[in-house]
Amino acid sequence: MSAPDRLAEPLAKVLGSRTAAGLGKLGLETVEDLLRHYPRRYGSPGEMTDIAALRAGEHVTVMAQVRQVQVRSMRSRGGAMLEAVVSDGRDSLQLTFFAKRAGVLRMHESKLRPGLTGLFTGTVGEYRGRRQLTHPDYLMVGVDAADEDEAMLEASRPIPIYPAAASVPTWRIGRSVRAVLDPLADGDVPDPLPAHVRDERGLPTLLEALRLVHVPERDEDWRRGRDRLRFEEALVLQTALARRRAAREALAAVPRPPRDGGLVDALDARLPFPLTGSQRAVGKEIAEALASSTPMMRLLQGDVGAGKTVVALRAMLQVVDSGGQAALLAPTEVLAAQHLRTLEQLLGSLSHGGMLGGVDGATRLALLTGSQGSKARRVALGEAASGAAGIVVGTHALLSEGVQFADLGLVVVDEQHRFGVEQRDALRGRGEHPPHMLVMTATPIPRTVAMTVFGDLETSLLTDKPAHRAAITTHVVPADNDAWLTRAWARVREEVDSGRRVYVVCPRIDAEDEPEADDATAEATVTTEGALALDGPPEQKAPLASVAQTAAMLAERPELAGVRIGVMHGRLSTDQKDAAMAAFAAGDAPVLVSTTVIEVGVDVPDATMMVVLDAERFGISQLHQLRGRVGRSDLESLCLLVSRAEPGSLSHERLAALASTTDGFALAEKDLELRREGDVLGAAQSGGRNSLRLLRVVRDAELIEQTRTVARGLVDADPDLTGSPALAAAIDHWLGDERESFLERG
Ligand code: ADP
Ligand code: MG
Repeated sequence: MSAPDRLAEPLAKVLGSRTAAGLGKLGLETVEDLLRHYPRRYGSPGEMTDIAALRAGEHVTVMAQVRQVQVRSMRSRGGAMLEAVVSDGRDSLQLTFFAKRAGVLRMHESKLRPGLTGLFTGTVGEYRGRRQLTHPDYLMVGVDAADEDEAMLEASRPIPIYPAAASVPTWRIGRSVRAVLDPLADGDVPDPLPAHVRDERGLPTLLEALRLVHVPERDEDWRRGRDRLRFEEALVLQTALARRRAAREALAAVPRPPRDGGLVDALDARLPFPLTGSQRAVGKEIAEALASSTPMMRLLQGDVGAGKTVVALRAMLQVVDSGGQAALLAPTEVLAAQHLRTLEQLLGSLSHGGMLGGVDGATRLALLTGSQGSKARRVALGEAASGAAGIVVGTHALLSEGVQFADLGLVVVDEQHRFGVEQRDALRGRGEHPPHMLVMTATPIPRTVAMTVFGDLETSLLTDKPAHRAAITTHVVPADNDAWLTRAWARVREEVDSGRRVYVVCPRIDAEDEPEADDATAEATVTTEGALALDGPPEQKAPLASVAQTAAMLAERPELAGVRIGVMHGRLSTDQKDAAMAAFAAGDAPVLVSTTVIEVGVDVPDATMMVVLDAERFGISQLHQLRGRVGRSDLESLCLLVSRAEPGSLSHERLAALASTTDGFALAEKDLELRREGDVLGAAQSGGRNSLRLLRVVRDAELIEQTRTVARGLVDADPDLTGSPALAAAIDHWLGDERESFLERG
């Protein structure tokens, strides 16, 4: 930038250190910070605040008209008091000021003239059944004007109401904004929107837009300004994503076209079931993407049980058919081991390449996990490096440990939401030809969120589920109802007696254990915030159920006499975990008390019942995942959510939503509704200078889509954005340090 950068100037320099200190409490340091501190809403003098809707204890800014004002001395306590009554036309609110002497109150009395409208800020209190604000901060509309005309104009303007702090009321922010905004000229405010983009859409310049939102004369003004600023936010974000995508596509991948009569065809011929319509459709999309030299980066979404594994296997076999290798990464060793078994079963002799009984063109599978024995590991490493293994199954460690492949053509990542930044980077850093990539998740991500958070990924969707799935019935069971619980354990026994399996899920391992600190419980903590407040302090409650205590308790229950009870959690060794899963699957220990380690992907078709203890501790999507462990065959299944949440609390509402549907996408929508926006994009996006201010990923789907097209056009025409320096700067500024975590969150 040529001239001194006015926007980067510290507020202390422009407004003085006292004013700047106050604004600093709101996190506003520079001129740009202040100008980007947009009004939260606008008051209009004609529209009074609904006083009846105010609740005691709330910090409010109220627009109302002064009805009467009176100063009197207080005989009992000494000193003086001013009482004013303001009204919205229906209900009234009292304003109260106290002082040692009546004289001090005259200043307020002279400003609070009956008939004038004002904005009053304070905390709503109650005194003798009347609602009141004590010592409110206030601004009278139109009183600072030079003459009658200006007062009229002033009184008819929308009044910006800023996100404020008790120490910095909204009008002080407004005055500061005008002090920095008024002297600025167009040249001081570089516009991230290229002129032609602005012109095509008739959008104002950045400076104009800032004036429109901060000093509007009419409601249309701030709407026009706000829409332009929202467009800018979406465009900056989408351009960042488009650049990232372009950089990736600049690296050519090796095309892996399908081969007639290869392993994919052989697999299709031996599958014990027909593919569903969407398995076919998605399979075709993926097959075409793999055949191209543009590296595939695709998110495959499908609800639990939708059959993603077969889709992944067919993609992996296509790569093997064309001479390459594929890696399948799972979030846990339990899942990796299970994937290996599943693939072996589906492939049969097709996975016995070079072995007795292997068919022509058969490939081989290898398993690589962090904790396997050194001999097994050496063998697997050799198979990956030589290319003998067409498919290598492992955990994410497989990438960070730099395992060698002869020709890695495709990486499939199961359960993307557990797949971190470093792993994705480790992948991309491999060789000059990046592998194609398929990430699979059963956590339904609404389209707009996928576009925003995973904006550089293409998405495929499995919309239907394999037929003949029996229903899962879900009930919320109050934890303090002994009769229901007794009935529940008796029901567990009935399931076991008819040859079925039952999961019992607890939020922690033992009494010393903090609840498992994984992403999903963190999410649960965020989402239950409101509920905790409603339910009262958590320390009043009994401790959370643990695996150790619950397993001991169940062993004592008369209903379960003679039933072997297994345990499963993250602190067991790999061998212990394998043994526990095997005993459960085989029915030797048909009841498994577990933490959420079984949450993703575990597939035991005979499991028909799940009891989740302290269910209110978990988030909606996590419970949906957990519940996906049952109902995996044509056997009717039951899920009991044992909860201490009060009826009417947010936690209870979430559980009720879960009980009402098994449609993961409907639940994801519900989840969005019940959460605040910030939680959708993660904590990093909900506050601080790099947050989305105006854009709402759920509401602004259309805008996000439009700007995506514009952004791709801009980046195609000018990959380095040399022609749009302000846009490039906005991307750097906006993304700042959180750049990686935002774009790579997962
Ligand atoms: P998820 O999408 O949750 O990973 P899986 O891939 O584990 O689901 O599939 C769940 C179960 O459904 C498995 O037992 C799998 O063999 C079975 N399955 C997959 N596709 C079909 C199909 N088209 N018809 C019937 N069963 C299927
Ligand atoms: Mg799966």
